[in-house]
Amino acid sequence: MKLAMFDDGAGPQSGVVIGEQIAPTGIAGALADLIPQWSSVEARVKQAAETAPRVPLSRVKLLAPVARPGKVFAIGLNYADHIAESKMETPQTQVWFTKAVTSINGPFDPIQIAKDSAHTDYEVELVAVIGKRGRYISRAEAPSYVFGYCVGNDVTERMWQHRTPQWSLGKSFDTHAPIGPWITTGDEVGDPHDLGLRCFVNGEKRQDSNTKHLVFDIWDQIEHLSYAMTLEPGDLIFTGTPGGVGAAMDPRKFLNAGDVVRCEIDKLGAIEATLTSA
Ligand code: ZN
Repeated sequence: MKLAMFDDGAGPQSGVVIGEQIAPTGIAGALADLIPQWSSVEARVKQAAETAPRVPLSRVKLLAPVARPGKVFAIGLNYADHIAESKMETPQTQVWFTKAVTSINGPFDPIQIAKDSAHTDYEVELVAVIGKRGRYISRAEAPSYVFGYCVGNDVTERMWQHRTPQWSLGKSFDTHAPIGPWITTGDEVGDPHDLGLRCFVNGEKRQDSNTKHLVFDIWDQIEHLSYAMTLEPGDLIFTGTPGGVGAAMDPRKFLNAGDVVRCEIDKLGAIEATLTSA
């Protein structure tokens, strides 16, 4: 199932995406509220998908499927080609940083280049959405803790990322975590480690890879993160970006106001944003 948050003019509500249409679930509250009680509401949502009047997607505004997650973690250096272009060693231990929850942005909302900034960059990433609370989750158990997946852009201010050893500030600027266009549930995705992912800037393909090239796969990531902390429904995990980022091009090509960045992943759809100046 594809689950979205949308606004048709009457305020945010959750819905099921079917082809080019969306059917409201009719359940009050946000999609994020449905995730922890999914086993008890799934049948109701399925029924809404079959019976509720559908609206064309072109007539609604799609919103971030989780507007204010409890936490947003992202892994660095997790595709071989991106490690090589970053001139780094393949890490023996997973390298994690947080993105501030306030950096979450809608799938088609503008991405802001901060005041006086000239180093804003893109990173297409598969994002896993946690469905169940848990700690010390084993690799074998990990798939049952994922609710679904969406497309993410781990937008980064490279100067702020690299002028200190800790990356979180450079990764946490407002609007720098667009996600969507909806959450595709795990059962519909099947194997998340065989999905093509691509990023385009003004139509030019910059990144083109497949999640089968992840250094640490999603199950390893969940095992590792949940050793340290309890994962909760709605938490987001950005699973790494492949090669082709602007910072690694020669000459470097950072994003400018007016540029259009499109990130797409097989089975999950695409998100697209225009860059704006602060
Ligand atoms: Zn990233």
